[in-house]
Amino acid sequence: MKIVDIRTGEIGIPLARPFKTALRTVERVEDIVVRITAENGMVGYGEAPPTAVITGDTKGSILSAINEFIAPAILGADVLALDEVMERMDRSIKGNTSAKAAVDMALYDLWGKILGKPLYQLLGGYRREIETDITISVGPVAQMVADSLAALDEGYRILKIKVGKEGMADLPRIAAIREAVGPDIRLRVDANQGWNVPDSIRIISAMEDKGLCIDLVEQPVEAHDLTGMAKITQAVYTPILADESVFSPLDALEIIRRGAADLINIKLMKTGGIHQAIKICGIASLYGVECMMGCMLESKLAVSAAAHLTAAKGIITRADLDGPSLCSEDPFTGGPDYDGPVIRMNDLPGIGISAVPCDFT
Ligand code: MG
Repeated sequence: MKIVDIRTGEIGIPLARPFKTALRTVERVEDIVVRITAENGMVGYGEAPPTAVITGDTKGSILSAINEFIAPAILGADVLALDEVMERMDRSIKGNTSAKAAVDMALYDLWGKILGKPLYQLLGGYRREIETDITISVGPVAQMVADSLAALDEGYRILKIKVGKEGMADLPRIAAIREAVGPDIRLRVDANQGWNVPDSIRIISAMEDKGLCIDLVEQPVEAHDLTGMAKITQAVYTPILADESVFSPLDALEIIRRGAADLINIKLMKTGGIHQAIKICGIASLYGVECMMGCMLESKLAVSAAAHLTAAKGIITRADLDGPSLCSEDPFTGGPDYDGPVIRMNDLPGIGISAVPCDFT
């Protein structure tokens, strides 16, 4: 089943409220979308956000990588020979993981649609339902407490608290949220590389001493500082999750071998798509290291691709797939069912999205 057409477009969706981390503030999802058509007329869709501060990918670089390098390399290839198509894509250009993720998920979507099965079943079919956390943006303590309580009202039971801007001052922030939400809500803390090693150990140990019961602490220090990550991981009881430190399957292997984290955060925009993410799942399974599936500021299209992989693999035990719930509208037709914190897989083939409102050129 030959690939006969590959087109790109842009999609913009306002966020319900600004998204603030230690690295950036964003008010709108502005993503690149890709449509791949097979010779039988079936289409697959993919999406990539330009997350320059994390992946280095911009709108221009994503469009250029897809249109000038990847598309010419895979046009005419057989989409049912998926491994071979992925090899062609990988050889066509170095890096550019967001562009590759968009094309990769469009290929998997098309592959699933041609085979007539939902992607999560074709990839392993471990579960049909996923519970995601929701992100609480970094801000004044009172605002973060109010946002946390609002999330509880919407049915969320797992909160991911963004910190990392103020070192030790993050501690009362987290304590105030724990006090407000009570003991039954799972709290995850994401420092987005914003702490140093001694502060990380002090803050996390203090959270343990205060009995704040934190599910995990994500990327306390800079991505490249695996020695620091290992020191922290060894010094505290709270599980440490590597996010910005892990892009590729080789990164995952290195983190595990060096004991630089307890958990790994997989994001399709870091791996370059599902094909590479599956390799991380394989490595993590061998070592018994559980994974979280995360997302950038992606809308329902890309997050649904991530949801399919999460549903497929038992080693992915946590989901941080709140992109669609941060958006103020859902412009897509089809896909899994999003019901507050619960994402339910259904029997729609591929990723399940059947229409993307965008001018593909
Ligand atoms: Mg993170």
